[in-house]
Amino acid sequence: MAQTVRVALPRPVRQLFDYRVPEGMDLVPGQRIRVPLGRQRLTALVVELDPPELPNVTLKDVESPLEDWPVLPDQTRELLLWASRYYQHPPGECVFAALPPALRRGAPAELPAPEYWYPATAHTDDLSAQARRQRELLQWLIRYPGQTISTIRSAGFNRSLLKALHERDLVRMATGEDINETAAPWPPAPGVSLNDAQHEVLSSIEQNTDAFQPHLLFGITGSGKTEVYIRHLQQRLVDDPEPESAQALVLVPEISLTPQTLARFEQHFGSRMAVWHSALNATERLQTWSRVRRGEPLILIGTRSAVLLPFSRLITVVVDEEHDSSYKQMEGFRYSARDLAIYRARQSGCPVILGSATPSLESLHNAGEGRFRLHRLTERAGSAGLPETRLIDVRSRPLEGGLSRPLIDQIETTIKAEEQVLLFINRRGFSPVVMCFECGTPIECPHCDARLTYHRFDNCLRCHHCGHQQALPRKCPECGEEALNAVGQGTEKTETVLQQRFPDTPVLRIDRDSTRRRGQLDEMLKPVREGQPCILVGTQMLAKGHDFPAVTLAGILDADGGLFSSDFRGPEHLAQLVMQVGGRSGRAAKTGRVLIQTCQSGHPMLNELCQGDYLSVAWKLLDERKAADLPPATFMTAFRVEGPSMEDSLTVLDELADKVAATAPDIPVLGPFPAIIARKAGRYRAQILLQHQQRPPLHRLTNQLCQYLEQKRLPASLRWSVDVDPQSL
Ligand code: ADP
Ligand code: ZN
Repeated sequence: MAQTVRVALPRPVRQLFDYRVPEGMDLVPGQRIRVPLGRQRLTALVVELDPPELPNVTLKDVESPLEDWPVLPDQTRELLLWASRYYQHPPGECVFAALPPALRRGAPAELPAPEYWYPATAHTDDLSAQARRQRELLQWLIRYPGQTISTIRSAGFNRSLLKALHERDLVRMATGEDINETAAPWPPAPGVSLNDAQHEVLSSIEQNTDAFQPHLLFGITGSGKTEVYIRHLQQRLVDDPEPESAQALVLVPEISLTPQTLARFEQHFGSRMAVWHSALNATERLQTWSRVRRGEPLILIGTRSAVLLPFSRLITVVVDEEHDSSYKQMEGFRYSARDLAIYRARQSGCPVILGSATPSLESLHNAGEGRFRLHRLTERAGSAGLPETRLIDVRSRPLEGGLSRPLIDQIETTIKAEEQVLLFINRRGFSPVVMCFECGTPIECPHCDARLTYHRFDNCLRCHHCGHQQALPRKCPECGEEALNAVGQGTEKTETVLQQRFPDTPVLRIDRDSTRRRGQLDEMLKPVREGQPCILVGTQMLAKGHDFPAVTLAGILDADGGLFSSDFRGPEHLAQLVMQVGGRSGRAAKTGRVLIQTCQSGHPMLNELCQGDYLSVAWKLLDERKAADLPPATFMTAFRVEGPSMEDSLTVLDELADKVAATAPDIPVLGPFPAIIARKAGRYRAQILLQHQQRPPLHRLTNQLCQYLEQKRLPASLRWSVDVDPQSL
């Protein structure tokens, strides 16, 4: 029986805490307990029994255990503590980030048995014609019996439909305890027959599934990567000696954007599927978390934080769209879910497949160094051909709502052919700048170094950095003239111009403003899926993973921002965007076209992208990074400080830079320099970057600097953070 325990507390401090275990209390690592801290009582998590004794400390007693089993199993706990050290984030915050909110607060962790719904009949004859949606739900359950409420929801049905069917005894419910009843349809449903390239990839992955092995699956959009994931999962389950306890993890950037992908997995794996994303409510979270913790056999498809779930036996891991920036948490515990997924696969001794049409340079570097195995799918599956990509030079061409004449002509041709158009523009709102034509002053945010964006739908000016919002003034606040004009274009303006030019064609604007409500995006995309001619105008959201078979023309309104970005990843992100937006065009039988508007039509990278060969562009970008000693050829850590004045922020960072010069002179410091938006929400932000060829010395230094800052106890008005492997600068 342990005499002392080391615990993690949900506190922003980089340390663990020791307590004495009272006589007769039996604790295990991973268990939640109540402990005193000062005058408070907190929920803590046991990470170690009988740790090496700390000198000269009198330990307080553990108050009571919250349950008699570990809420965090060994592997997950080990992952989180490793991540805490790697990302230099307080261990307590890392550990508690992996618990559903209810459990963080100390609520009991009885694991509620999830409910599975089955049809109680084999046909829908008993339903009247009026009950159309009920009939659809029943039909769906007959096809895919054994669904949880969250999979039912994600298929587009709701609880009241289910309740109506239940009242008529047309469906019945079973709980997770009855394992025979809830087992997934087995063996899994057969799918399309794989083409040769897919076969080759699959069998090459299958050669080595009993040990940790990362695979990088480069496959152009529509080449059948998802089909490969599904087959791989089936194969792993078929080969597994104990499929009734096998778990798999599939990470995706954003589920709400791609209900089709989820539906495809559900068709194959039925009630084995579990879903995890930010739109789940507290109960759904606790239930799914519990299913995972109980070791139920499942394939969990989820966004970033799904990688922190308490899996007990992973047999494989998939990371789809591995290049996507949403895998990196930008606040607080700044982990990369892709990198943690690889760590998990290593722990579990299983394969991990990273898939993308536009792999990150990090992953290509790993493939180049032999750490990842590279597989290629270079042709579209099914009948679709590759899109034809062209640049439109917009120098000295008049633009209307950001659209050049040749692009407008192509839109017209496409609509006439009853096909769909997708236009990408990187700003939401109507106009990014409102400027006085008398004195030339733009209207700026009172709290940020940024201009306010004009939103026409509610006639408001908004700051996209701090959320500040104000009515559009009639007169220029600077000179008092009534000469304010909206300049430049956002999605709203392009939408308006298109509506005027193509009054008979639906124009659908897809951005954060138009898709705030849950389910709104799905609703908006209905006509798109039905294949009617329409024009989609949108931001980043549109470039992600959708399958729109009737889109045959894709346009990028402005490619130049990425070419001249101050972030060294700008060109990489632009190349990915061009290929991803292009990948939305011509996915079905018809060949698509992609038009890119630029002032740099002679730019070698843009021209090479038009050849459709992302890898060759990416290898060149990687060579440039190596030549410039930039990641992924080197490693980077950012320290950021924000405070009430730029001077305060820079002073802290200057001290930090001095400290580096004194303790690790071989590690160069870039900065301190102000952030790109130096003042945000009234706070002044600056950073330094540390960079080194090798991880261990950089890591040691980072650790020392964190200790230093933590002990220094900066005034409360100053806040600092550390970002290991920063993804945006
Ligand atoms: P990706 O994930 O690479 O974008 P998908 O797996 O979604 O590609 O496949 C693109 C389209 O081609 C889908 O509609 C899919 O059903 C179809 N498809 C995939 N593999 C095959 C195949 N072997 N034969 C016929 N159609 C296929
Ligand atoms: Zn602002």
